[in-house]
Amino acid sequence: MSIVGRFHGRPIILVETLPLVGHIAFGIIDRGTNVLQVRPTTLCPLSCVFCSVDAGPRSRFRASEFVVERSHLVKWVKHVVRAKDGEVVEALIDGVGDPASYSDIVELVAELKRIVPRVAMETHGAPLSVELVKKLESAGLDRLNLSIDTLDPEKARYLQGAEWFDVTRVAKIAEYVARETSIDLHITPVWIPGVNDEDIERIIEWGLAIGAGKRFPPFGIQKYEVHRFGRKVPGVREPSWREFWRFIERLEARYGVVLDYRRMIDRFGFRRVRRYPRRFRAGDEVLVEVVCPGWLKNEVIAVDREWSCVVTVVGVRYEELRRRSVKVRIIRDKDCIYVAKPAR
Ligand code: SF4
Repeated sequence: MSIVGRFHGRPIILVETLPLVGHIAFGIIDRGTNVLQVRPTTLCPLSCVFCSVDAGPRSRFRASEFVVERSHLVKWVKHVVRAKDGEVVEALIDGVGDPASYSDIVELVAELKRIVPRVAMETHGAPLSVELVKKLESAGLDRLNLSIDTLDPEKARYLQGAEWFDVTRVAKIAEYVARETSIDLHITPVWIPGVNDEDIERIIEWGLAIGAGKRFPPFGIQKYEVHRFGRKVPGVREPSWREFWRFIERLEARYGVVLDYRRMIDRFGFRRVRRYPRRFRAGDEVLVEVVCPGWLKNEVIAVDREWSCVVTVVGVRYEELRRRSVKVRIIRDKDCIYVAKPAR
């Protein structure tokens, strides 16, 4: 690992040798289905007011940003696909940043297409351009999951936390994607009750008019959720799931389009398959080597003795544990994302 720059005061750490399983923010996440989440970068130019992962220039909790070297990432994708007996239908490039800001995104898409049948990518659209879209199409990108939360320029600047953000430009690029390329457009607004209810309706009308959803469902509306280290929209209460489904049902009735993602799973071809083997279980005590500062403050990243996975150790400072071997107790193991505390 080396520090290759700074982003609003935070070091950008280039990941070239670390294991790429075990961390929520970078590498590969397998949730036991035939979709692999591939996370090349934590960087994002926006600071959405609802961002559940506190990304962008206005982050308050992040200590470092991570960018994964492309060939290292591809090598690990191959390794995880093999461990799942090749049962992977889609690589979804997503993350706690905006993948479109990854400088090697075109090459990454092209290389992933040689490994898995389908490659999709999430973005809020700020780093997109028509030129980039053309290159992504040539690289074989199958689907663009575009989060666009309003078509109103002023509200978009507020929601995306960036005065320079131009949603009209992003909408034009989206129209180009839907009408002029083989890439499918799947529009994924975040519903923030009382803030963009009507905007979601305008987005559905617009998405249907431009031809979103050529092969896959056109929309995947997301629920606004409050997370401990995420940003909270002032004056807005997180909706309950009941409220969310009621909102979705009302829109489905009005527009005659499926918006409930539980009924879209077949159309995406998603199903449960063999998981990547779990290395540790919650409660295990393991010896790990601390290798770099963590993604959030008061965290460090460590590796196990075999360098098979990374473990986030929380409640510690990097300056105190730099390059040391420490015994930790695993407190979280879900989906092979390992979080630990120093063992007593
Ligand atoms: S919601 Fe997405 S685009 Fe917005 S700040 Fe967070 S990571 Fe960036």
